Amino acid sequence: MTTTCARELCTKRRTGFAADRQCALHRPGPGHPERPERLESALAGLRAQPWFDELVTVAITPADRETLETVHSPRHVNRAREACESEAAYLDVPDVGVCADSFEAARLAAGAGLALAEKIIAGEIDNGFALVRPPGHHAEREMALGFCLFNNVAILARVLRSRHGLEKIAILDWDVHYGNGTAHAFERDPSVLYLSLHQYPHYPGTGAASETGEGPGLGATVNCPLPAGSGNEDYERAFRERVLPAMDRFAPDAVLLSAGFDAHRADPLGDIRLSTEFYGWMTERALEVADRHAEGRLISLLEGGYDLAALADSVGTHVATLSGVEPAK
Ligand code: ZN
Repeated sequence: MTTTCARELCTKRRTGFAADRQCALHRPGPGHPERPERLESALAGLRAQPWFDELVTVAITPADRETLETVHSPRHVNRAREACESEAAYLDVPDVGVCADSFEAARLAAGAGLALAEKIIAGEIDNGFALVRPPGHHAEREMALGFCLFNNVAILARVLRSRHGLEKIAILDWDVHYGNGTAHAFERDPSVLYLSLHQYPHYPGTGAASETGEGPGLGATVNCPLPAGSGNEDYERAFRERVLPAMDRFAPDAVLLSAGFDAHRADPLGDIRLSTEFYGWMTERALEVADRHAEGRLISLLEGGYDLAALADSVGTHVATLSGVEPAK
């Protein structure tokens, strides 16, 4: 249930917040951009906000094997556990560095969205944000990739359908990189609409506009590739012309966000030029879709974002907008 406050356009919402300090124990190696300080910086930024105490803290249970295997093969889960336990330098590819604590951090990252979902289904919160790492959207069924061990958002979409009975899930991915793992997980699945705005060409190389899904999933993938140098106006046009009409046609029962903040103009891993404030604009549009079709059900999971100050500011704007309070200037 939401309440409208006196200020025009300000709708206060009960926003869940899921984070766990153990996610900071995942150390992918010296000099790695996906570093523990990301979580610490964003958390410090949120704690400094006057509205932080109004967020509903949601405890995370690590995802169990059965949950991980909604998306990943048993072999992948075993290999991930063994690589971390044996303190291998990395899993599958050198950019997925791991340490002894990485498996537990990755299980927590995968479990965070599920914890928020339970609170939403129970009517205790309206929406939620998971401040977790490692990120997930590059992870494939059989393979870790691009800093990601398990595909957190894909697992959440599968669980919302299988355990909570929601039929149609929309995943909006505004990380600067294409979410190849998420796209693959649902490319033949008409019940999950995957929409991505991403720099193109760029890592991981896929995500052309011509990739629209396969077989029964044809049309349920909407890619908005954007050239280096694109900014707020280009993203706004893609939202109005492609993203929002597709989401409204689909009419999801829940909206999930793969919320990367590496399309920020300050980010070292991308060449897109979004402002901090624009993350608030995109968040508002996603909330409106959730209000129109999904009784406001929206869960946002952190993906990328590698400039610590821009990440903290953008997460602050994002979460403020989710809860219907004024973002800090
Ligand atoms: Zn990214």
